[in-house]
Amino acid sequence: MTTSILIVEDEPAIREMVRFALERAGFTCREAGDSERALVAIADRCPDLALIDWMLPGMNGIDLARRLKREDATKELPLIMLTARGEEDDRIRGLEVGADDYITKPFSPRELVARIKAVMRRYQPHSGDAPIIAGELSLDPTSHRVTAGEHVLDMGPTEFRLLLFFMTHAERVYSRTQLLDKIWGSNVYVEERTVDVHIRRLRKALETQGHDRYIQTVRGAGYRFSAKD
Ligand code: CA
Repeated sequence: MTTSILIVEDEPAIREMVRFALERAGFTCREAGDSERALVAIADRCPDLALIDWMLPGMNGIDLARRLKREDATKELPLIMLTARGEEDDRIRGLEVGADDYITKPFSPRELVARIKAVMRRYQPHSGDAPIIAGELSLDPTSHRVTAGEHVLDMGPTEFRLLLFFMTHAERVYSRTQLLDKIWGSNVYVEERTVDVHIRRLRKALETQGHDRYIQTVRGAGYRFSAKD
């Protein structure tokens, strides 16, 4: 699964440098030159994390962070603030409005990537070794094994990644496009019907133990994982 990051920064040179570093590290990126554009981009498709420059024209980065943390739709969005200023006061203000971390310019690409990964780990308790349980299913991210009771379910790597995504994002509907972004990455050209093919295979694997109903088709919208009865 690729992590998508929104870079909110008004200086094109820094934006490009950050994007280059993050894409090299395997993240997918979108860019916004100011807070207003960032809000539009987030409303369009919520990223997994936003990197927000403190000093932006118009609404500044700190007000943007405050606003995102206040709204239900975005309060869980991890935020990292970027700033040229390294004063302790700013750091405290940034963390007070709910930013998850703070990076002072100039920073090395390696440091940036390490901080992003650290913040993402905090938000993804299941990226560790513990098996993920939903309904009758147990998925072990370490051994890549999915079991239903005593039975091991046989599935390919793509079906495994799909199931991992669904089990960690249960009860939410995802469109084919969103699933393509999350599972295949937005830089890869894959047709939407590829998603249907893998959903079918995943259902077939689950069906062997009678759990194919966990993957639900939501007409006109996409797919949802639900282990509820
Ligand atoms: Ca700036």
